[in-house]
Amino acid sequence: MTSWLADDGDFATGASSKGWLASTSGSHKVLRSFGKVRTRVRVGGVEIGGEGFAVIAGPCAVEGAEQVEACAALVHQGGAHLLRGGVFKPRTSPYAFQGMGEPGLRLLADAGRRYGLPIVVEVMDAGQISLVSEQADLLQVGARNMQNFSLLRALSKVRRPILLKRGFSATISEWLLAAEYLLDGGNEQVVLCERGIRTFEPSIRNTLDLSAVAFAKLRTHLPVIVDPSHATGDRDLVIPMSLAAAVSGADGLLLEVHPAPHQALCDGAQALTPAMFQELMRRLPSALAVVDRQLWQSNPTAMAVASR
Ligand code: PEP
Ligand code: MN
Repeated sequence: MTSWLADDGDFATGASSKGWLASTSGSHKVLRSFGKVRTRVRVGGVEIGGEGFAVIAGPCAVEGAEQVEACAALVHQGGAHLLRGGVFKPRTSPYAFQGMGEPGLRLLADAGRRYGLPIVVEVMDAGQISLVSEQADLLQVGARNMQNFSLLRALSKVRRPILLKRGFSATISEWLLAAEYLLDGGNEQVVLCERGIRTFEPSIRNTLDLSAVAFAKLRTHLPVIVDPSHATGDRDLVIPMSLAAAVSGADGLLLEVHPAPHQALCDGAQALTPAMFQELMRRLPSALAVVDRQLWQSNPTAMAVASR
């Protein structure tokens, strides 16, 4: 019989002395103390959470064949490792572009295959899981769904890795306990993603919480990546925050890029232009060198040589 905890508990200071971290730390599957070994998540041929730093890039939303082709070519040429693209979009307004749905999924999957890039797609509800997991290599749970527990339970039964974004009003504890749902249900292939939280600061779309990245890396065995696009909402802030994320110990980035950001149907202001994306990819290795890391490479010999 399942033994339930009386309270949810909290990681936060103060609460942690009475909370689930202190009292039950050994039994939570997400914690590092539970499994000493760091989890490495394989997505297609790419590894997230090992020595290499993985870059996921692509448009906020799939908009059409030409746009997806341009994005995939850019992502491939820039040396990023996975292609992202939303086809079911969680939009604040019901009148905003909601995504292309299944035809968009097919466009993204075809482009991914052409360029040898595994694809990352958001699943908004349990009814989309079978369709999306037929094509996508990494299933994304968006910030707005981080505590959709029935979705998490359903995804815990799927044989696909999950990218779990932190909710914009979620504490670190709530985020890690959301991951616990996935692990507890049997899916251990989970990547955490910090994407900015809502604070009192109105000048920037969200506040990038890099301390949460360091905390999650310290306390859990899961890979942690950073989405500086949604964290800032402003393409001019994405390069500095990406470099900072690399130095903070993150295992990768989730970036929005668009061939013509001013024409984007979704999140154009935060999409890197092709030139900015290339600049970032060129500058990332020296930021990673600060923490003795490098971009992920499929060839381990090349990684070993590059690290000398
Ligand atoms: C996204 O990555 O497409 C997205 C909608 O992000 P978030 O869930 O973090 O807002
Ligand atoms: Mn977006």
